[in-house]
Amino acid sequence: MDSILRRCKNCGRYTLRKDKCPYCGGELEVPHPPKYSPDDKYGRYRLIMKVMSGKIKLSPDVINAIISGSSQSKTQ
Ligand SMILES: [Zn+2]
Repeated sequence: MDSILRRCKNCGRYTLRKDKCPYCGGELEVPHPPKYSPDDKYGRYRLIMKVMSGKIKLSPDVINAIISGSSQSKTQ
């Protein structure tokens, strides 16, 4: 199934139009869905940065699990 959504390269808004952005007239591109992998070390790093900057509140043991690499063991 083809994606009907287009994203403006200029302002970043999503639109159903295919020619140009209805908001600013900018060029459109097909948005790529963000790939999330639990083993993505950069994704984990970004998460750590968010925690450190106070954007996400987590308990200390959860933070420790993320920092030490929780992907190696998945004990419930
Ligand atoms: Zn735009």
